[in-house]
Amino acid sequence: MKLPQQEIVTVIRQGLCLDPATGSEAIRDIYLAGGQIIERPNPLPSDLHEMDATDCLVMPALIDVHVHLREPGGEAAETIETGAAAAWRGGVGTIVAMPNTQPPIDTPERVERVLAAGRKATGTRVLTSACLTIGREGQEVAPLAELAAAGAIAFTDDGCTVQSDDVMRRAMGGAAALGLPVMDHAQDRIMELQGGVMHAGARSQQLGLPGIPEEAELSIVERDIHLAESTGCALHIQHVSCGKSVDLIAAAQQRGVRVTAEATPHHLWYCDDDIDGEQPERFKMNPPLRSAMDRERIRQGVAEKTLGILATDHAPHTHAAKSTGFLNAPFGVIGLETAAAATFTVLVKEGLISRMDWVKAWTTAPAQLLNLPLPSLQPNSRAPILIFDPRREWIVDPQQTVSRSRNCSFNKVKLTGYPCILAD
Ligand SMILES: [Zn+2]
Repeated sequence: MKLPQQEIVTVIRQGLCLDPATGSEAIRDIYLAGGQIIERPNPLPSDLHEMDATDCLVMPALIDVHVHLREPGGEAAETIETGAAAAWRGGVGTIVAMPNTQPPIDTPERVERVLAAGRKATGTRVLTSACLTIGREGQEVAPLAELAAAGAIAFTDDGCTVQSDDVMRRAMGGAAALGLPVMDHAQDRIMELQGGVMHAGARSQQLGLPGIPEEAELSIVERDIHLAESTGCALHIQHVSCGKSVDLIAAAQQRGVRVTAEATPHHLWYCDDDIDGEQPERFKMNPPLRSAMDRERIRQGVAEKTLGILATDHAPHTHAAKSTGFLNAPFGVIGLETAAAATFTVLVKEGLISRMDWVKAWTTAPAQLLNLPLPSLQPNSRAPILIFDPRREWIVDPQQTVSRSRNCSFNKVKLTGYPCILAD
């Protein structure tokens, strides 16, 4: 095959190559040039850049559909540049920014600004969602067609639910007409505003902390599945926290409703029993960690592919903000740099899903949701490529993060599997 002039060719040698687009698993070499996979050049260039992937997994870079980059307005916690760098470090080649910045991403100009800053950040491709409603206030549907024309790839008011059924119906109808998905932070605002800080259950009573009942999630999941059915909108339920949500989503999928859903590393790993009331930087997020039974159902939901997408809900907060106690600290934990290893450990190492299904949940499944070409290891597919060492064990040290924030659920936790490098 003919090479573009002066293009450096990289070869990734002898990794176990997992191609989620074809389902093939084989030990072989992968050649890259000019940001894409190429066939083996003949003759091989003399200045070939070689990378050894022996005993490692080789796969397309991960796609994270749920990332808070905090810019504009929250740059003390993260910027588009530092968030993209954290993603790159974690083996994530594409991220979707959430629009709950200050100001929120509800105008075409703001969409363009995020995308322009993303293009300047090195490595990871930054895509952005835009608001469903103006100001994320839930009153008036945002100018969805203009936001889409500016490059928004999905719509969400993430951080809160659109409380009005009527506004949500019109927003989902608008998204359906544009062929773009709605990403849904499913949580009844009225219940949310009662001040809960963790799952309402035996543990919250023990700790004397106000709880968020599971009904807050279930009622909105149920409503929005119904709206997806009537509007034809592709609905994606973010960060599922309740076992009963998994049942509702599975039943809807079975009757052909266009609904997908995601599980986060922290909801797969922890439950409310882990909360001691003193580490909001690790255990306070929204929706909250729920019961051990909920966690079990979420794990099963991933195994059954009801929750077909893995996503971090990377939510950076400054040390100062997170040091205000469990009642007052803001919700959210970072996740980009630990996502691959944490999900590999809890899902693949524990024998719940195959390594191929794990790769699909991070690559082809999110690509389908976002209407992107399917990530693959075939020639002409897009780099970067992740080299992942499935045997390496490491202890998470949040002081070492590339992210500007340190609020990591996996602080001092031993994980198995390491995203060695993204090659492009
Ligand atoms: Zn959310």
